[in-house]
Amino acid sequence: MSETALRLLPSIDQLLRLEGLQSLIVASGRDTLRDRLRHVIDHFRKEILAGSVSPELMASQEVLAQEIVRRVEELFTVSKRMKLQRVINATGVILHTNLGRAPLGPAAIAALEEVAGGYSNLEFDLATGKRGHRGAGLEALLVELLGCEAAVVVNNCAAAVLLTLNTLAEGGEVIVSRGELIEIGGSFRIPDVIEKSGACIREVGTTNRTRLSDYEAAINENTRVILRAHPSNYRIVGFTEKPSIEELSGLARAHSLPFFEDLGSGCLLDLQPLGIHDEPTVAQSLKARVPVLAFSGDKLLGGPQAGIILGEKSLVERIRKNPLMRALRVDKLTYAVLEATIEAYRNGTAMLANPVTAALHATRDEIDDRTRHFIDRANAGHLDLKLTLIDGDSVIGGGCAPEARIPTKLIAVASDRLSAAEIEAGLRAHQPPVIARIEEDRLLIDLRTVKTEEEEELWAALSGV
Ligand SMILES: *Cc1c(COP(=O)(O)O)cnc(C)c1O
Repeated sequence: MSETALRLLPSIDQLLRLEGLQSLIVASGRDTLRDRLRHVIDHFRKEILAGSVSPELMASQEVLAQEIVRRVEELFTVSKRMKLQRVINATGVILHTNLGRAPLGPAAIAALEEVAGGYSNLEFDLATGKRGHRGAGLEALLVELLGCEAAVVVNNCAAAVLLTLNTLAEGGEVIVSRGELIEIGGSFRIPDVIEKSGACIREVGTTNRTRLSDYEAAINENTRVILRAHPSNYRIVGFTEKPSIEELSGLARAHSLPFFEDLGSGCLLDLQPLGIHDEPTVAQSLKARVPVLAFSGDKLLGGPQAGIILGEKSLVERIRKNPLMRALRVDKLTYAVLEATIEAYRNGTAMLANPVTAALHATRDEIDDRTRHFIDRANAGHLDLKLTLIDGDSVIGGGCAPEARIPTKLIAVASDRLSAAEIEAGLRAHQPPVIARIEEDRLLIDLRTVKTEEEEELWAALSGV
């Protein structure tokens, strides 16, 4: 039985002549297709020998060939889906961690393009013609914008916390409140990072209440750092207490210890006008004389993945000289993008030109206008789906201000034939894929995170469902 079936297997050359494969030859090249056909046929051979191929498939060479073509096409679809590609974020989650967090604005992209395609002064001092210091320009800009003494940039905020604690606390104790032994998405856990830095955790207080006196009582000759971690993605409410950063900073100073604040999101603009009261700004911490702090580049800052460490020169220089720095440093592309991002904050264009801050500040009325236009157009275009305008909320995401709700207008998409899950899958299968959210069995689209120039593609995706 299997011998006959094996003889039925078409050869690669026979398959390559099939009508159904001609477009794949054009799209991917004969060699790639040949490799994938070989892969599929090998699998098929094993299945036949194992007796797991149904008799219908082995009815004739034509049927077998069809099945092979189907499997090869599937291989191409899978690799196409896995390829890193642009998607349209219609979820309204501004810093969607799964969708790459912060999108970049035109200035950042221009800087990236300029540096990526050629040589740069990454470690070259144009004034002296000698070897320069990597990141010098960006660090000077951070110092100027934020008024701190020194800055250094690493791969992400997790790296910043690891490097800072390793430099300042290896072999000693880090005092941290039990209310701040947090986990940020993607398994970043404060206790684990402290341990990996080579320091010991000295937990103080309770989950909901930690007093300044708890910190003070824990200080001993092994204490190296007092740590404050911003509880980015969760909140303790009710019967709670914790010292202010001024108090912690003062306590640490009185005991000649460094105080390190892990700010997480790194907000440069005050979000209180948006009704967001629990995202501390970097300026507040520096004003409270926090001697060293760290935050992410691709959260509320709206830049590339990076970890920014700021603070007193003596501490930052020790951190910079840590041999681990070499393993955690960033490349020229990150410097280019981050420098342009920070530059926009300095020249006052960030609010509108940075996609993250722009999306945060877009008002419900602005979204309402765009959404109405979009729906009117859809309804005039006799779409098979029914679009309605409803009130809703956008979410910041990225583990920032979890309780903040930004009022927005949403498009609820309904269909007589399709379920919300089917519409969602249809949009996701489009090119470019559209990612939407489902709430209470309704598919929802939030234009807050959709660029104006993406509306055409969104429209095409909806029409195609
Ligand atoms: C997000 C976050 C981190 C990790 O930041 P990455 O840049 O993603 O590494 C660390 N600490 C806090 C408090 C955070 O919110």
